[in-house]
Parts: sequence; structure tokens; C-alpha cells
Amino acid sequence: MYKTIEQQVRKHIAPPALRREFRQHDFENLHSFCLLIFCVSIGIWILFDLIVSYRGGQGFTYLSMIFITVMAILTIVLAFTRKAGHFDLLNLVFVAVITLAMRLVIEGLPVDIRPAWMMLGASSVLYSISVLPVRRWSFFAAILVTWINLQPFQVPGLHVLDLRGTLFVCYGLFLNGLILYTYLKMRRAKLYNFYMSKLLLEQAYVDVLTEIPNRRSFMTKAQTHLQEDNGQNRYLAMVDIDNFKKVNDRFGHDTGDLVLKRTAANIKASMTEFEYARLGGEEFVIYLWGLSQADAEQRVAALCQRVREDAAEHPVTISIGLTRILQDDNLTHALVKADEALYQAKHGGKDRYVLWQAQAQANL
Ligand code: GH3
Ligand code: MG
Ligand code: MG
Repeated sequence: MYKTIEQQVRKHIAPPALRREFRQHDFENLHSFCLLIFCVSIGIWILFDLIVSYRGGQGFTYLSMIFITVMAILTIVLAFTRKAGHFDLLNLVFVAVITLAMRLVIEGLPVDIRPAWMMLGASSVLYSISVLPVRRWSFFAAILVTWINLQPFQVPGLHVLDLRGTLFVCYGLFLNGLILYTYLKMRRAKLYNFYMSKLLLEQAYVDVLTEIPNRRSFMTKAQTHLQEDNGQNRYLAMVDIDNFKKVNDRFGHDTGDLVLKRTAANIKASMTEFEYARLGGEEFVIYLWGLSQADAEQRVAALCQRVREDAAEHPVTISIGLTRILQDDNLTHALVKADEALYQAKHGGKDRYVLWQAQAQANL
């Protein structure tokens, strides 16, 4: 069972539409985290810039002010960004600006320690990008921009074949490999979890056999609807297939299942604008609203007729108990009344609907 679901998940995590949905979901989830990363990055950069400006003697110039302003603007834009696609671009611009700003700070350091600080700067930026919700193109472009701006060999006197140069190359390769692996693995695991929870959630609210909503889904939706709309024209219909046991006994359980699916399809087709569900066994329920009593009766009568006239191999009929939901009725109470009306429909000869009436119950 778990294996089958897992196989289904693995097979379906590739479609572009699902990936788009995942990216948006992931970005919405991590929106405040992204803001935090931007703010903390700016804060740390300002701290280093102040240290190098005053203790290192570089001086706090207009360039620092420009960088702070641009980064602050990008952070404000991020606060209002709602689309994952826009963040891909915004993050890339932020990486370009902050790596240039880092270079400004590093240029205030003695030449011999600059390459090491460039490596330190690049690793911090690369690590941050690898945990952000960005698409692959944006991630790779950000790596490229980081290395262009913080590449240690732009410092005079450092060569690839020197001891220091060779160590930097090896460390850079190791760092890139690690960041790439983490990013790709994490994205895949997150996408897998996203699809898995989506699938399980769907299965929790859909009836496996008939593929229409199940009892859990119906109770939640109808309950919410009842609380939001306490108008007069709300009805509940309980539907039950007539002599269904005989279908199973004569033609087998598989045919019984087909009949259930067909009946569900008929309910779905004729009640599209309302809430409906399979309650269990061969019982279904429909919640109708915004109809006059005559219209509600006409709709359930039409459903009986549709099932009766369905030219299928194993024809069946249905009985329906219909009740108006009064203002002080709750869902459970309405279900009991619809069930009572259904009982009368069965006893009145089946293949019909009965509208619940207080009088009729008193006479039972
Ligand atoms: P009535 O006209 O009074 O409703 O009689 P009935 O035979 O339809 O009702 P009864 O409650 O006696 O039988 C319901 C049957 O539905 C019994 C059960 O085996 C069968 N059933 C319940 N769930 C399923 C299912 O998922 N698939 C199939 N094939 N049969 C089911
Ligand atoms: Mg039944
Ligand atoms: Mg039945």
C-alpha cells in the first residue's frame, strides 16, 4: 500500500504544473525567512563595513551609503513580492549587489588576506542561496555572479599554481559541489513531501471507489456552508440505491461497484452546483441551496428519473429523502430528518422521493 503510493508520488513529481504550484507554495512558506536572510545579510555587511571603515582606515564613503540604500530598497520590494518567479530575479539582483558591497569591504583589507576573505564571503553567500526557494536557473546564475564578484584571483599576486592559489581552487570546487548537492537534494525532498501531503490530503477527502467527495469532506463543507448561510432555501437529500444487495448477490460485488460508480456519476452530473458525497455503502447525500421548495423537489425528481432511465447493463433505481433545513436545524438534525423521509420513500414503494413533513412523522 505505502509502496504503491510512493511509486505514484515518484511518477508524478515531474509535471511542470505541479512544480509551479510547489515553487509558489514553498516561496509563500519561506517568505519571512527570505526577508530575515536579506535583513541579517545587510546587518552583518554594515557591521563589517563599519569595522573596516573606522578600524581599517578605509573611511565610510558615499559608496557604502549607495549599497545600503539599494539593499534596503530590494528588501522592501521583497516584503511586497508575492510571486515565486519575481523572487528568482530579485534574489539574483540582491546577490549581485551584496557581493559587490562585500568587495568594497574586502578592498579595505591588507592585500595578502583579501583572497581568504573573498572565499569566506563567497561561502556565506552560496550557503544562503542554497536554502532559499529559488529556481535552478536563478540558483546557478547566483553562483556565477558570486564567483565573478568574489573570485580571489582578481587580487594581485595570487596565481592558480601557487600553494595558496591551488588550495583556493580545491576549496572552491569542494564548496560548489557541496552547495549544489545540498540544493538539488533538498529541493527534491521538499517537492516529494509537498506532493505526498497533497495526495494524502486529496485521498482523505475523496471516496476511493466513486471518486466523488466522501463523508468527511461533505460534513466539513456542508457545516461551513450552513454556518455562513442561514437563509430559508436550504435542503438536504439522502439518496439510497434500491435493492442494491440483490445486484451484489446476482451479479457479484464487482458489478455492484460499477453500479455505485454509475450512480455517483449521475449524482455528480445532475448536482454540479451543489455539495454531494458518498456517505458510505450505497448511500449518498446532497446539500442544495438557493432553491424554492418546488425547484428542490423538481431537482431530486429529475435525479430519480435520470437513474431510472440510465440505459446501462444493470439498471437500478434510487429512493430519496428530502428535507428543508430550518434555521435552528444543525447538520446532524437535518440528516436524521432526511433519513426519516428516505425511510418513507422505501416504504412507499421505492424509486421516488419523499419530502419530510412533521405531520407524517407524527403519524408513523
Ligand atoms: P433497500 O432497497 O431497502 O435499500 O435495500 P438494499 O438491498 O439496497 O439495502 P441493504 O442495506 O440491505 O444492502 C446494502 C448493500 O450494499 C449491502 C452491502 O453488501 C452493499 N455494499 C456496501 N458497500 C458496498 C461497496 O462498496 N460495494 C459493493 N459492491 N457493495 C456494497
Ligand atoms: Mg442503505
Ligand atoms: Mg439500498
